[in-house]
Amino acid sequence: MIVACPHCAGLNRTPPDRDPRQGKCGKCGSALFTGAPVALTATTAAAHWEKSDLPVLVDFWAAWCGPCRAMAPVLDQAASRLEPHLRIAKVDTEAEQALVSRFNIRSIPTLVLMHRGQEVARVSGAMPLPALFDWLRQYVDGI
Ligand code: ZN
Repeated sequence: MIVACPHCAGLNRTPPDRDPRQGKCGKCGSALFTGAPVALTATTAAAHWEKSDLPVLVDFWAAWCGPCRAMAPVLDQAASRLEPHLRIAKVDTEAEQALVSRFNIRSIPTLVLMHRGQEVARVSGAMPLPALFDWLRQYVDGI
């Protein structure tokens, strides 16, 4: 399985006989899974949602957005419970305008599920953890 490093976005192949959560990045030495959402930028995003074998749930958010702040702890919990089946990522819409326009984000928070370069699904608005899990289970195996 190809996994992008949350720290340097380097691509790593994880051996099938070992728990990928124990893996370290061959490039920078950081843990491949930290149990927390990964902040993506225009520079690092493609490694995660095009080159990695993991589905990536991307939260488009902004610091001024109340519902986004409500969603943050839900996504933290989702990351700690769903890795290594899924990567949870965040895009700061104030800082990453190019990604906002590429994904045609019209309201926040918007969650976009990406897998191998394809958009699988998206949903807008905050939701509690059980609703997020129900939504994700429609698209991601093994969670
Ligand atoms: Zn790394």
